[in-house]
Amino acid sequence: MGLPLEIIGLGRPEITLIWEDEHTTTYSARELRLRCRCAHCVEEMSGQPLLDPAKVPADIVARHIELVGQYAITIRWSDGHETGIYHFRRLREDCPCPACQRQRAQQTSRDCKP
Ligand SMILES: [Zn+2]
Ligand SMILES: [Zn+2]
Repeated sequence: MGLPLEIIGLGRPEITLIWEDEHTTTYSARELRLRCRCAHCVEEMSGQPLLDPAKVPADIVARHIELVGQYAITIRWSDGHETGIYHFRRLREDCPCPACQRQRAQQTSRDCKP
């Protein structure tokens, strides 16, 4: 999945990505902050979460969104965190919209994976 046509989310409670095929993916800002997989938020070796969700403010917003090459974005959050990289492919694959959730559920049952 290539570069989104549009990324809307600065200072907002939600971050929206509009893809080349015009599919729209919306994450709540807090959810995206909690999904951070940087070395400060997740133990690299064990994959153990280091981030305490209780410490992430409910009203967190993105202060700055920057492209990383053509494949990802990095976000500076209002809590000062800025080391996370969000890959577009991942953001699209994990799209929380009902249509994508349904599609993923179907794929899971077809492949008989847990
Ligand atoms: Zn992080
Ligand atoms: Zn979707």
